[in-house]
Amino acid sequence: MKPLSSRTAGFTDSVIRRMTRVCNQYGAVNLSQGFPDFDPPAPILKRLEQVAHEDFNQYSITWGANNLRRALAAKQSRFMGIDIDPDSQIVATCGSTEAMMAAVMTVTDPGDKLIIFSPFYENYGADVILSGAEPIYVPLYPPEFNFKPEELEAAFRQNPKALILCNPSNPSGKVFTRQELETIASLAEKYDTYVITDEVYEHIVYAPHEHVYFASLPGMFQRTLSCSSLSKTYSITGWRLGYIIAPAEIIDTAKKVHDFLTVGAAAPLQEAIVPGLLFDQSYYDELLALYTHKRDLLLKGLDDLHIAHTDPQGAYYVLLDISRYGFDSDLEFCEVLARDVGVGAVPGSSFFREPVNHLIRLHFAKKDETLLEALNRLEGMERKIPCRK
Ligand code: GLN
Repeated sequence: MKPLSSRTAGFTDSVIRRMTRVCNQYGAVNLSQGFPDFDPPAPILKRLEQVAHEDFNQYSITWGANNLRRALAAKQSRFMGIDIDPDSQIVATCGSTEAMMAAVMTVTDPGDKLIIFSPFYENYGADVILSGAEPIYVPLYPPEFNFKPEELEAAFRQNPKALILCNPSNPSGKVFTRQELETIASLAEKYDTYVITDEVYEHIVYAPHEHVYFASLPGMFQRTLSCSSLSKTYSITGWRLGYIIAPAEIIDTAKKVHDFLTVGAAAPLQEAIVPGLLFDQSYYDELLALYTHKRDLLLKGLDDLHIAHTDPQGAYYVLLDISRYGFDSDLEFCEVLARDVGVGAVPGSSFFREPVNHLIRLHFAKKDETLLEALNRLEGMERKIPCRK
């Protein structure tokens, strides 16, 4: 038999999603793959029941159902401070996973270069390989995960086609400041580069930090593909609803890519989410209060257990330092953690370009009782996992 595509040899399956299967195998509390264990808002679920009996069982318009695009344009125009046209400036996708893949394919030809900050959400690596592009990694330095402007400019000098900006950032929890975004914007302008954002945690930004939409910076809308998702904002990760917002000339191309990749997101679900998109500000305030509480609960619990961790400014992930256990492989550590402690985490090496193996990622999009159970299990972790040093 001839070998299968060499393209696919360049990456493994997603370690994030593999860890969910490991958790299921050992009955571990799953703080690995980031998704809630609580219900989406009731009005959305009520609408979901209704749409089954309405006429939404066939394809929607490929770039998104009319009702969805209209409600989404109104919501995002409000938050982004940009007047977004629902007909020409939006493509609805199957989650931000497809949005990012389609955005990369819209912008790049094989061989084109793309700047990616490290640590980065693991999908970007596969997106780049599948589209035949080449990554240029620029490190973010802990504890604040700041970049060095001179290193970023050195990357821009290599003639990249685009930069991928995950803000708020998974897994670091970094929220880029306006000043940092302006630095990126001036380089994007100077070197005529597109910016592809992943802003799925746009509504989960802890005070005093604030989310600034990259596309809202002066002159940036024209070169930005703003990708996001409804998964985290409305606790519906399984619905697979995401989108790209960009100027019409870019969206015209993105529509073609999306059409042939997936035709469209699930029509009944596009309809059922509309009441969520119409929620007023109080919904977003409550969502943030909920995640602020969960973050505080988990971080305080980790502090009480003397487990060193990062301080997320946004999103719902925290990185724990496991150096004291002396493992050579953080993947193996996570397997032992799931098996012997009963808590699921993602090895930090899945996110870093640099050879990092002393960090693991937990998420806190879980009921309080789930987080407390995880903390309970983490107590005395050093007795349950013998040190290998
Ligand atoms: N974004 C989530 C995470 O990082 C999960 C995404 C996914 O598995 N599609 O865990």
